[in-house]
Amino acid sequence: MALNVGPLRKVLELECEKGYADTTVIGGLDKFLRCWAARALESITTPRFLAGFKKLHLDDARYASLNQEQRKKLIADIFAFLEMAQAEKIEARPPKKNVTPRRRTVAAPQATGQSLDFPITSLQGVSTAMAARFKKLGVQTIRDLLYFFPHRHLDYSRTNYISGLTEGEEQTITANVWQAQVTRLGGRRGTEAIVGDETGNVRAVWFNNPYIAKSLPTNARVVLSGRVRLFGGRHVFESPEWELLEDKELVHTGRLVPLYSLTQGLKPRQVRKLMKQVVDRFAGQVADFLPSNLRKRCNLLELPQAIAQAHYPEDEAAKNEARNRLAFDELFLLQLGVLGRKHEWQESQPGNPVSVEKPLLEGFISSLPFELTPAQRRVLKELLTDLEKPVAMSRLLQGEVGSGKTVVATAALLAAAASGYQGAFMAPTEILAEQHFSSVSEILSRNASEVSEEENLRRFSGLLSRPLTLALLIGDLSQASKQAIQQLIRDGDIDIIIGTHALIQKEVGFHKLGLVVVDEQHRFGVAQRSALRQKGFNPHVLVMTATPIPRTLALTLYGDLDLSVIDELPPGRQSIRTRWLKQAQRASAYAFLKKQVAEGRQAFIICPLVEESEAIQARAAVAEYERLSRDVFPDLKLGLIHGRLSAAEKDEVMHRFRSGELDILVSTPVVEVGIDVPNATVMLVESADRFGLSQLHQFRGRVGRGSEQSYCMLLAENPSEIGRQRLDLIEKIQDGFQLAEEDLKLRGPGEFFGTRQSGLPDLRMARLSDIKLLELARAEAIRLFEQDPGLKQPEHRLLSAELARVWQPGGELT
Ligand code: ADP
Ligand code: MG
Repeated sequence: MALNVGPLRKVLELECEKGYADTTVIGGLDKFLRCWAARALESITTPRFLAGFKKLHLDDARYASLNQEQRKKLIADIFAFLEMAQAEKIEARPPKKNVTPRRRTVAAPQATGQSLDFPITSLQGVSTAMAARFKKLGVQTIRDLLYFFPHRHLDYSRTNYISGLTEGEEQTITANVWQAQVTRLGGRRGTEAIVGDETGNVRAVWFNNPYIAKSLPTNARVVLSGRVRLFGGRHVFESPEWELLEDKELVHTGRLVPLYSLTQGLKPRQVRKLMKQVVDRFAGQVADFLPSNLRKRCNLLELPQAIAQAHYPEDEAAKNEARNRLAFDELFLLQLGVLGRKHEWQESQPGNPVSVEKPLLEGFISSLPFELTPAQRRVLKELLTDLEKPVAMSRLLQGEVGSGKTVVATAALLAAAASGYQGAFMAPTEILAEQHFSSVSEILSRNASEVSEEENLRRFSGLLSRPLTLALLIGDLSQASKQAIQQLIRDGDIDIIIGTHALIQKEVGFHKLGLVVVDEQHRFGVAQRSALRQKGFNPHVLVMTATPIPRTLALTLYGDLDLSVIDELPPGRQSIRTRWLKQAQRASAYAFLKKQVAEGRQAFIICPLVEESEAIQARAAVAEYERLSRDVFPDLKLGLIHGRLSAAEKDEVMHRFRSGELDILVSTPVVEVGIDVPNATVMLVESADRFGLSQLHQFRGRVGRGSEQSYCMLLAENPSEIGRQRLDLIEKIQDGFQLAEEDLKLRGPGEFFGTRQSGLPDLRMARLSDIKLLELARAEAIRLFEQDPGLKQPEHRLLSAELARVWQPGGELT
């Protein structure tokens, strides 16, 4: 109900006139005051006023027992309170019939206190419709709201006099409203106001916003923040932020004003106001989960303060400190999570230390037809050091396509085999497994004599004191030969086994598995690793990827893995000529492609990106394939590959392409064409502006693997600004890591690797460019882990709960 102050005012005025004799109301003023207080309590909606109200103790008024001076003072206090209340407009207007009054303010604290985990609808002024809009932004509880940070702040903190205003800059003035009216601006209704301070007057206009006029009563004090333009030789505020100057903190003007990323139906002013109230009321209730010694050591703000300052900072410095604290939290929790996994992985079972035979490896290396690059040597040393330890290695090896990862992995597999262990080399597809089988065979045979050659089994003598056996296990084999190989693996008669992930599944039992090498990390997650452990092994694991990931991101996403990087290509690699082509150049692109095919080369065409679904994508690809076959390249042999084909069908097409039977391979972007076809020299990418830089780089990496000059042609019809930037960059830059850094800058980390899909907690405040903070967080996480790995100590209780909250169960690095 509305707070009705009229009768109270009248009674009190009368009481003053009558000389505080308590004769105004029959039965005494106390009874009247108590009744009024009981009703008023229901309609007071802000904490500050509740506090002021409580101080008057009207619910237990004792006017009758006071002397005249005391009576006078009490009435003066009540009047002062009413003045304040009126300024704050808690005196609600009588509600219109059948219309529920819209309460804009947040309720005062209830006696019970509200839990941070309550839904936001428990806040007064948040309707279910509003809550539904917030839900789209991932905000459901009061805690979510507190963590719903602005994406930036407008700096309206510079206040000025009207005479000192300059054009173009964001400035704030405090002024009197002389006049505000609805007017026509650019053919539509808007608001125009004239405001003034002691130095002059200025005009302010709001386009399409006639209702503001009503909110700016003449003589009101108003704060305006925004840019000033020169119009007909005079300064004008164009659509400034505004708010009336009242006895409370500014929310929209005159300060660092938060800008929230909103969804349809949420208005900035409304959200800012809500956020201010929520922050004022609830930020103080957030428990700081960081142990205080850690917090002090790292010079971090307390959490409630950080949350408050992240929304409504006092100044730039406070804002940065807040961001620093919150970013630290994100990175620290992330590191604790990934280190927890690593710990579980490494410590739960003893590892299998390999005794590395140095002379064997040196012989192997010197037999290669090339010198290892310094980066390859360094990485090999890192691997061998890990293998010798009694804890299982858990390492990510990054290196560009063609940087020579396979050789290094082969050396590690050889070391394990020499020490009596079995090694498994897993590829994401059968065709890649075959490719690895033949290249590893090739490398080994340089140093040994091959004693037997079957389709999928090789024995080499001269390397070890016994013959070394290499096998390929893929679904393509006959049932009989599969079973034969599985038996050999079980008996320990195979040293190195190459295959797909089927290797670690069901029927395959190992005799003594010591090392697993996984090519292309993103298909091998925690689940697969635990599958290995359930087989009773705790092998060393090396995960390899050709996708360049900036170091900070790698530490974040794969913090449970140690990181090795081959950051140089073998000398003499050709660079791929990359050109961004306009629509008008399509015909000449096709002509160029025909010419290359006429010279005996092959080409890839990547279909336009269709986002709807795999089925629609596949249909679009079929249409494109038909168009190309019929209208553009009727004389050439084309193949098509898309996500709706079975693995066998895909492999079949890939085979035909690799063997040279097909001239052009048309493919959807979702299919990884992770194949080595040295004869392919042209990569044509449709709607190239819609891919990320890393993905374009991956496409480009499919060519340039042979001795012929290779080309990457990027078709883009109407690139957006960001698309344009990407295309410019990829034309200029060949280096994948440099591109990845640029990509990270353009896209932000969230999108970069689909962190959401990876089950990792969100990073909202942390910037991956902030290497120092990341390293600090990692160092602190390691330190804490050493002290109290299970977070069992009482001072880590809150932290442990927070960790459980942000790492949802089932989150996996896959
Ligand atoms: P990746 O697996 O990193 O894509 P590979 O190991 O398949 O790269 O190597 C690509 C090619 O480069 C192979 O033919 C390999 O024999 C060759 N190669 C590897 N290391 C070197 C080197 N240091 N110098 C010259 N050629 C190399
Ligand atoms: Mg490779």
